[in-house]
Amino acid sequence: MATPGVLRLLETLADGTVEEFSPVINEEGEVSYPDVEQHLDANDPDAYSVLESLARRDILYREFREKAYVCPECGRDGMRYTTVCAECGSQNTIEQELYKHVECGCLAPEEQFRVGEGEYACPDCQLAVRPEQMEVLQQHVCQTCGESAAGSVGALRCRECLSVCEPHKAIEWVLYSYGFEQYGRQWLTTQLSARQALAEMLDERGFTVEVDAYIRNDSTETPVHLYGEDDLLGDRVIGAVHERPEQEDVERLHTAAAAVDARSVLVSTSGTVTKQAEELAQNHDIGLLSYQQDGSLEREYTTATRTEHSSSMLQRLTSSVRRQLN
Ligand SMILES: [Zn+2]
Ligand SMILES: [Zn+2]
Ligand SMILES: [Zn+2]
Repeated sequence: MATPGVLRLLETLADGTVEEFSPVINEEGEVSYPDVEQHLDANDPDAYSVLESLARRDILYREFREKAYVCPECGRDGMRYTTVCAECGSQNTIEQELYKHVECGCLAPEEQFRVGEGEYACPDCQLAVRPEQMEVLQQHVCQTCGESAAGSVGALRCRECLSVCEPHKAIEWVLYSYGFEQYGRQWLTTQLSARQALAEMLDERGFTVEVDAYIRNDSTETPVHLYGEDDLLGDRVIGAVHERPEQEDVERLHTAAAAVDARSVLVSTSGTVTKQAEELAQNHDIGLLSYQQDGSLEREYTTATRTEHSSSMLQRLTSSVRRQLN
């Protein structure tokens, strides 16, 4: 299935307006694809679902771009790694060398132990200490609360609102870009050629044809691949082109046509129609045509019973890009 909106966005890849569909993180901290969204209609699925579905069909490639961490407080991305004090959460920790009086456990910088040239005394228990009674340790010392620890605690800091959070509290996005596969270009050419063939056929029959049109009825606006009107006879036709028409394609076409009392015709570019789609088309009196290699439209087509891909699509969507790390 390719709705008019999907064909429009693929055309921007074909004509070079867009090189790739790249993700951006919007103000709400969500991944969006503006180059895709601007072409989709209200009744299309969301941009990510559309892109994933096209990638699954090898029309588009999908390429990993980066991982982004979004601030749970303000929704901006680009959090930076930092370390914090495990005790009070302050970022103001400094790694420094500390001396430890083994006997009493006192931990302090060397200058607090030193009482003279080569002479040391514990600042806590006040005993004189020989160098071998002390351990030298690398510690992360908090300048805010004074706590010291052997290791540092990792955290993420937001560049926007400056809040600091534990890494697992940030929202992790895996970002992908999508572009044309070689097969995708051919596929689009076929869809557009079939639409053109249908437009020409109706044109020859005296219809005024508009491709990529909107049917306006009351407050609704329904996008259709093609709309033809014969003013003289008051005849209207709505056409749809699909690689392999399925039930929902027929249903959508029927709904659009019924709203304006138009006839409808459905073109399969693979020459195949699913069994359910065929039955539904017959019920709704929708003409079925197949687009031939030579560019003509014929009344012959084959029917298939199984719908492909549906399970793999579901899998792909459930392993969705949005993942909360806890
Ligand atoms: Zn923030
Ligand atoms: Zn001591
Ligand atoms: Zn602290």
